[in-house]
Amino acid sequence: MYAVDHNLASLEEERDLLDEYEAGELAVQLDSEEPQEVIRWSLERFGSRVAVCTSFQIDGMAILDMAWRIDPSVRVFAVDTGRMHPETYALIEKVREHYQLDIEIYYPDGTELSQFVTQFGVNAFYRSVPLRLRCCEIRKVRPLLRVLNTLDAWVTGLRRDQWASRSNIRKVEIDHDHGGILKVNPLADWTEEEVWDYIRKHAVPYNTLYDQGYTSIGCTPCTRPTITGEDKRAGRWWWEHNAPKECGMHCPLETGGFEHEAESILGRHGEQHDGH
Ligand code: SF4
Repeated sequence: MYAVDHNLASLEEERDLLDEYEAGELAVQLDSEEPQEVIRWSLERFGSRVAVCTSFQIDGMAILDMAWRIDPSVRVFAVDTGRMHPETYALIEKVREHYQLDIEIYYPDGTELSQFVTQFGVNAFYRSVPLRLRCCEIRKVRPLLRVLNTLDAWVTGLRRDQWASRSNIRKVEIDHDHGGILKVNPLADWTEEEVWDYIRKHAVPYNTLYDQGYTSIGCTPCTRPTITGEDKRAGRWWWEHNAPKECGMHCPLETGGFEHEAESILGRHGEQHDGH
């Protein structure tokens, strides 16, 4: 049974981590299953040691809805970067009411954020790719790490067709970047159209920014609507060139399929790169 006051040692003892063999077998077994069956399996296997991660985009809303229909007390968590759209905050409130769920919200460390903003300013992300990645690391990646340290598995809304770095994801896979817990991607083989069909069919609340031309939604200063013909993620960090459309939450920047840019990206947190 999960208890928030357990010390690290006891958490380690209680962890239910799959090995590569078992995860590989399950990946094959679950690959042809519907998302709901993948979620059902994860909830039965891990109980309160698994949680649904959502950023309140349509994919995250679809898995939240599916999981809630299976278990109305499912754990759902999100990271609040502090720079999200008013429409996203409005949706969070709507979701809490609609599903009667206490959504767990995780925040950046105040001291880290204060030091970063003091040194580089509130809009440092426009000045260089390294500063943007540093902001994402402080506001998104580290809060995520803190919650994942308490889990044995997490459920995400990732799809293979979202971006090149996601094209090889499996429905279940060991998350080597987060302590070897299981990463469950029930929508891996779904298209965006299938997700929208689900949202409409089940009247799932969604972010009204989609009605304003947004096709991928992150923080306010780093997201713009896209136009016809643009990639769905083209509105994320649109001022950057030759940089990953990733923040590091799902794709380690060192190995995320853009090695050719890694040196420039990870050349550390200076300001010499292709800033705005
Ligand atoms: S998306 Fe922009 S504001 Fe949000 S964490 Fe990343 S750089 Fe910072």
